[in-house]
Amino acid sequence: MNIFSLLTILSFCLNGSGSEVQRKDAPISAPSKSVTVAQGEVGRWAGNCLRCSFEKRVWPAVMGTCYYPVDMDMKSGSYTISRRTTGGKLETAQIIVTETPCRQEDLKNFPKKEFVDVSAVNQARAAKEAAVIGPLIGYKPSVRPAVFDLPVGKPVKNLPKGEGNFGACRTLDGQPRDRHTGQDYPVSVGEPVLSVGNGRVVLAASHFYSGNAVYIDHGNGLISEYFHLKGFSVKADQTVTKGQRIGVVGETGRVTGPHLHLGVRWHGACINPGFLLVDPSDLPEVK
Ligand SMILES: [Zn+2]
Repeated sequence: MNIFSLLTILSFCLNGSGSEVQRKDAPISAPSKSVTVAQGEVGRWAGNCLRCSFEKRVWPAVMGTCYYPVDMDMKSGSYTISRRTTGGKLETAQIIVTETPCRQEDLKNFPKKEFVDVSAVNQARAAKEAAVIGPLIGYKPSVRPAVFDLPVGKPVKNLPKGEGNFGACRTLDGQPRDRHTGQDYPVSVGEPVLSVGNGRVVLAASHFYSGNAVYIDHGNGLISEYFHLKGFSVKADQTVTKGQRIGVVGETGRVTGPHLHLGVRWHGACINPGFLLVDPSDLPEVK
């Protein structure tokens, strides 16, 4: 037998059957981690995170924590999330999205009749405005670095309890309308409205439905929206700081009376702003 034949036999003994003797009942992997998050809420995965992914969408972590905002219209069920740690490790988990029942709001005898039977001119105007807003609030594969901190600041100095109408399903004098994308707060006309975080104004404009509206980009794909203002004192591209006055409460656009509408989009998901006003450690966590 020459040396090559010997090596071949040795090699077979070392590698040949090794992989076939693995026990069939051996665990395939460690028990998977998961988090349960309701529609319109935010889940988190804390600790040494660099990048985060939610199905096909990807974004950077904020101060080492991955946040997973769940759009109010996301279908309930189980989805895959993952995170890349600062050590280069890739981990996956399941996010279980549960349904948030839609509160029904039937607005009768709506005072501003132009919003009940919308004229062709106003329909065209609203469509044009929606086309401007769409790209501002949608998911972007690359985002500016986060400049906000959690919890975010209050949008008015003495913030009353919200109306609890985030995501409400609405009818206007019996006609179905789109779901409510924010939270309304009963605040009087003239009350100063404050930016909930550091950021950059991306739009300050007078729109048909939202009235005088301000949109602020806080980085990391987080956008805050302030609607129905009496007036605003900021303009596009202006840098603002947390707590800075950006306008005053009013009743412009489609409203029944004065209030502040606060909306939040994060990585394109429409979420209840209330979840950014609480301590982030109170958010559902991947375990
Ligand atoms: Zn509203």
